[in-house]
Order: sequence, then C-alpha cells, then structure tokens
Amino acid sequence: MPNYIVVLGSIMSGLGKGILTASIGKILQSRGFKVKPMKFDGYLNVDCGTMNPFRHGEVFVLRDGKEVDMDFGTYERFLNIDLDADASITGGRIFKDIIEREREGKFLGRDVQFVPHVTNWIKDHIVSYANKNNLDFLIIEVGGTVGDIENSYFIEALRQLSMKEKVMFVQLTYLPNLYGELKTKPTQHATQILRGMGIQPSVIVARANKRLDKETREKIKLYCNVDYVMNDHELSTVYELPLLLEQEGMYEAIRTFFKLECRKAELDSWESRVNKLKTSPHKGKIAIVGKYTKQVDSYASLREALINASAELGIKPSIEFVEAEDIKGNVEQLSQYDGIIVPGGFGKRGVEEKIKAIQFARENKKPFLGICFGMQLMAVEFARNVMGLDACSEEIESCKDPAVILQPNQKDVKQIGGTLRLGDYEMDIKEGTILHEIYGKDKAIERHRHRYEINPKYILSFEDNGLIVSATHKDLIEAMEYDRKKFGFGIGLQAHPEFTSRFERPSPVFVRFLKESLASFLGS
Ligand code: GLN
Repeated sequence: MPNYIVVLGSIMSGLGKGILTASIGKILQSRGFKVKPMKFDGYLNVDCGTMNPFRHGEVFVLRDGKEVDMDFGTYERFLNIDLDADASITGGRIFKDIIEREREGKFLGRDVQFVPHVTNWIKDHIVSYANKNNLDFLIIEVGGTVGDIENSYFIEALRQLSMKEKVMFVQLTYLPNLYGELKTKPTQHATQILRGMGIQPSVIVARANKRLDKETREKIKLYCNVDYVMNDHELSTVYELPLLLEQEGMYEAIRTFFKLECRKAELDSWESRVNKLKTSPHKGKIAIVGKYTKQVDSYASLREALINASAELGIKPSIEFVEAEDIKGNVEQLSQYDGIIVPGGFGKRGVEEKIKAIQFARENKKPFLGICFGMQLMAVEFARNVMGLDACSEEIESCKDPAVILQPNQKDVKQIGGTLRLGDYEMDIKEGTILHEIYGKDKAIERHRHRYEINPKYILSFEDNGLIVSATHKDLIEAMEYDRKKFGFGIGLQAHPEFTSRFERPSPVFVRFLKESLASFLGS
C-alpha cells in the first residue's frame, strides 16, 4: 500500500517547495523506499509548453516529451529517476479531460461539478499513479500557496484522500526576520487557513534567513498544533537540504506518522558531493549568453548541470548570465570568460549578438557549447563567416542560404502547444569525434524541444570547412563540432543535455565542457 506525503506552501511563493519535495524524496529513497513525486499546478494551461520562461522559469522536458514545470528538473536531479507525463497535473489538464468527457456524454445526464467530479478525478489519478508505479511513497507537491482559489479544489481532494489513505501533510512556511527576531504570526495564520480546509499539518518546515531558536520552535509547535518544526534556513547549496532534514528529524516524523521501522539513510556519496561543492575552490568564469537572463530560473537546468559537473570535478567556476542584447558592439567583453555557452531559445531578440558571441569564441578558440538554438546559431555563424554564405535561420528571417530550416514534418503543424519535436531521441554518434569521446559510446539518448533543424543541404560544405557533423538521428543532424585544430573546442547539440544531468550523475557533456574551459586551473 502506498503512503502519501503532501507538501503545501504558504505565505508566499518562491520558498523552495520543489527542493523540499525532492529532499523529502531523497531521504526516503536513501533508505531503500520506492519514491516518486507528483506535482499539481493550478493554472489553466494544459502543460508548460506555451509558457514564457520570463514569467514562469524554465520549461523542463520529460523523456516522454511532456513539457512541465521546472520543479521536475529538481526532482529528477535529486532522485536520479526519470518521471513521466502522469506525474504532472495542471488545472488545464484536469478540466480539458473532464470537459471532453462531458461532450462525449460520459456523465449520463448529470451536472458536472467540482465535488465530486473534479475531486474524484484527482483522487483516482493519484491513487492509480501510486499503485501503477508500485510506490512506497508518493510525494505530492501542490503548486501555489494555501488560500489560492486555483488550488483549493485540489487541496479538498487531498483532504478527502486522507480519509481513506495514509496521507501526511507537510507545510512550508516563511518566518520574516524583523530586527533580528523571526516572527511566527504569519505561520500561525497559514496553519489556521489550512485547518479551516479540514487539514492539520504534521510537520512545519520553516524557511527563514537564520536558524530557529528553541523558543520560536516551541511557539510554533504550541500555536500550530504540530509536533515537528524544522529549520530550512539559507544554505550554500540546495543539495544540502536533504542533509539538513536528516538532522532535523524528518525521517523520524515520517516514521512515526506511518508507523514504519527505523532505517539508516545511505547518504554518504551524496554528502561527499555536497562537501566537495562547498569546499571546492572558486576558479574560472563561464558565460551563458542568452535572452532570458534577467530571470535566472529560465536556465535552471543549465545552471544546475554546470554545478553538478563542478561537484564532480572539484572546482567551482562562477556562472554568469550575459544578456545577449547587452553585448551590442562590445563582444570583447567576453574575453574575461573561460568558456561560453549559447543555450536554447526562440525568436529574434538578441540573435545577432549571440552569433557575434559564437564568432568570438571560435576565432579566439574559447571553449564553446551550443545547445539547441545555440547549435543552430553555431551553424549560421559558420556558414556566414567561414563559408561566406548569406546564411540565417528560417525561424528568424529569410535569406539566400538558410543554414537552419523548419523540420519538414512541422510544415503542417497549426497548433503551438505540444507540437515541437519533444522528448527522448537516440543519436548515432560518429566514431573519432569529440562527442564520441564524451559519451564513450556509439549511441546516446537525450531530450529535445525544437521545431527547426540544421539544413542537411550544407553538410558537405560544413564538413569541408571544419564544422563536423558528430551525431545524427536518421536524416536529422543531432550534433556538430569544430575541427579542433582549426577552431578550438566547440560542440553543439540539438538536444538539451542539461535535462539529464543529475547531482550524482552529471552530464558528460558539461563535465567535458568544464574540463576544457578550466583546463589551466585543473592543471591538465
Ligand atoms: N527555436 C529553435 C527551434 O525551435 C530552438 C529551440 C530550442 O532552443 N529549444 O528549433
């Protein structure tokens, strides 16, 4: 029988519910339990695919191609597991499904209501997911904060679920620091709101900018009616949270609630990576030249993939976001960096500056990594400045020599949502290439999210001039790299290797890129 843990947020957003959910998962997984997270988001989008990263942070892609909230990246990085579309529920997905069934006449003349139809949909989905996956624990993160209209029916469904199944509620709150004193009143109100919905949390996790003192902890216990109040103060790395929760007795609280046996956590290798990250010397600088840099969560997986690789190598470069448009005429500013990344992206803004950044990397033999749009622009830059063509990407403009074109099977696509080339595809990697050294094998699977592709018409002249196709999937070019002798280390991937990087299993692409960029500091 699966156990259920529900993580609810209160007071304000941005407190790190996703990291808390993943960390609770980690401490259970490290005891041998089979754990998966699930997330509910209240918005009416069916999935995250149509959302602008500026407003919502990165769109993460699962292996089955589902475009989901960035918290899924945190779950996968922490738990080192692949999740699937059914782990992500949005308000839009629930209503779309129910309304379609209503149109098909499946409700047999009944009026369709929030209770019981929407709440039953939610409960059925949760229970069948937990059973189908044979889980010991399903950890459900409820997006938004308690008291929002958007998640109220979801919380009601969870209350109903708790009448039948074993469901433990964990509430994340925030303690504002007023002249040195951590104030508990907002937390008391937050718990009252939840109690008004018929739910009593068992654990309160208190996010604050410093540790709780004994008195504050006791006060929260007494007024919020809970036995467990846990610290969640500022940490130097998010990967430290499972270790903090261990100290704070999270397993003890879970064990008591679900009446489980004592089990020892196996977190040694996790801890040694955390320690390596904390003690590694700060050396070198990596630039991410993008268009959504003012909202750093837009590139969350990319940043974390670099951090995961840093923990592996024991060196911590500073990762700096450079807004492409700000480069203007001054591309020389990039000379301060040891490696340059142009990440995935869409649309015209900043494109010419990104191309200049790539040219700068190539001409100065700065290690370069182009991801998706970054690889497409690598090809455009090369076609223009090495091959002398009037080149562009068809996504941006029309020109005589489009180096990047719409994938043929995208021509008839009318609807935007969920129609890109999404999710896992296998690439065949050419022997003798740097990419082959990186993966150490002939085939690798990575996740994708794109509509355009490198124009295969130019393969021969790309290769003649020193831009080598290093991987393909059928006719589609999956990866390219510079002839190293001519242009230094530079690789591009149509896929997003950042989506498969895990804390305990960093992506080999990022490990190699950092090794190349930081070679002078690593002494190799
Ligand atoms: N805009 C490009 C495309 O659709 C690249 C997408 C991306 O970088 N994820 O092909």
